[in-house]
Formats: sequence, C-alpha cells, structure tokens
Amino acid sequence: MTALVDAYDLVGFDLDGVIYRGPDAVPGAARTIAALRRRGIRVGFVTNNAQRAPHTVSDHLSGLGIPCTPDDVVTSAQATARVMAADLAPGSEVLVLGSAALAHEVSDVGLTPVHTRSSSTAAICVGYCPPLTWADLNEGCFAVQAGAIWYACNNDYNRPTQEGLAIGMGGILNAMREALIGMDPIMGGKPARPLLDETLRRLGGTHPLFVGDRLDTDIEGAVNAGWDSLFVLSGSHSMDDLASAPEIRHPTYIGDDVSALLSPPVRYEAS
Ligand SMILES: [Mg+2]
Repeated sequence: MTALVDAYDLVGFDLDGVIYRGPDAVPGAARTIAALRRRGIRVGFVTNNAQRAPHTVSDHLSGLGIPCTPDDVVTSAQATARVMAADLAPGSEVLVLGSAALAHEVSDVGLTPVHTRSSSTAAICVGYCPPLTWADLNEGCFAVQAGAIWYACNNDYNRPTQEGLAIGMGGILNAMREALIGMDPIMGGKPARPLLDETLRRLGGTHPLFVGDRLDTDIEGAVNAGWDSLFVLSGSHSMDDLASAPEIRHPTYIGDDVSALLSPPVRYEAS
C-alpha cells in the first residue's frame, strides 16, 4: 500500500487545528509524526503566530507527546525577519510593534530592534502581541508616513479561542490601514510565501508537502509557494468552505486529520 506521504521528503504542519486543538493533541498526531520520522521524512512545525518563541512552541509540542526541538519550528517572525534582512542594510533600525520573540528574531538577522520611533527608523515590523496599545500603532503609522518600510508577520483576521473568535493580526493591520490609506505591509506569514520558503531553506528537501486546516492561509500559502498540500478537516474549515473556495485555495489532497498521511492519497477534484 502506498501512503500519501511516500511521495514527499519534507512535511510542514500548521499547528492549531492540525496538531492540536485547544489544550489537546489531535488524535493520531503523535503517532503520525513518529511514523514520518521513522521513514526519514523531515518534519517542520510552521506557525503564523509571531508571539511565541520557537522554544515555547517546541516545549508545548513535546508536552503533547511529540518530541520537538526549537530547530523543528519555523515562525512567521523568523520568516519576516529574513525578508527584512534581504531588503535593509545590516544594522538598520526596525521599530518592533510586537513581542520579545519578534525583537529577538530581528536582532538575530543583524538588524537593530528599537521600541521608539526616530529619524533613523528604516522599517516597522508588526507582529501578534495583544499588549500593543493604540498609541503604539499610531507610532508605527507615523514612522511609515515618514518613509519607513512597513512589514507584518501575518494577516489572519481573527483567531479561535475557547470564548469565541478574537481579533487577529489582520484586524489590527486593518486599523493601521485606515490611517495608511492605500498602503499594505510586506507580509512574512502564510499565505505569503516567505514562511514556507524559510521552512524549505532551514529544513531542506526537494518534494515538500504542507498540511493545514485553513484554506485562506495554509492551502493558499502552499499554492503560492509551489508546494503540494493536504487539507485536513480537524480544524477551522469544512468541505462546505472548500466547495465555495476560489481555485488558489484548492488543496492537492483531502483527509480527516494528519493520519491521512499514512493512508492511500485522496486527491481533491473540484466539481
Ligand atoms: Mg490552523
């Protein structure tokens, strides 16, 4: 029996709705990851969340029974920092509107994270960080109006919580867009391709597959990066969502959850 995953040498996994749901692992996730590793397939955990540092994510996954090191984790903060390092002169000052983890990644690529706007601010970088204030966002808007380049880690409009949908990074960026009329940030996270490009660069491989539960970030991100994709039904989106999705959000395969990787492939055929 040929398993879906046998055609690939790198598998990138979205986290929420794919590997875990709330506090619990998705059934079969730990067993599936272990089986992939036994086959010699590279495994990466790829997240749009720029607030959590890689070691925080790897500790979380290890606690769910999925052994993991920070090197197995790729975040939108890392991908966005990589994009900025390619665009900006070494040492350039970047006004970080985000977490300490994001500031660390900015520093790690040879740029200078700052928390106050000045005439030498070359760029601003916005990442998920609920303690950000209205005044912080205004500082970012003023810097961009003075010529700084605008980067952001992801554009998810909302995020599921146990109490309901919460405002996501894209909602905060929309508030800034109201002041920065006609402007849009350069994006590092899914569905923009830098995050999957960074995953391939870091982990290696020639035949990558991405596994995700959201059509607008995971699957569109895979299409944009030229990766095949597996859409799993263990998280946010359903087959009804897929039926009404534009072609750029069509996956290569569909499955109930990550254990579909070990079963014969079920290709998605748009009707
Ligand atoms: Mg997800």
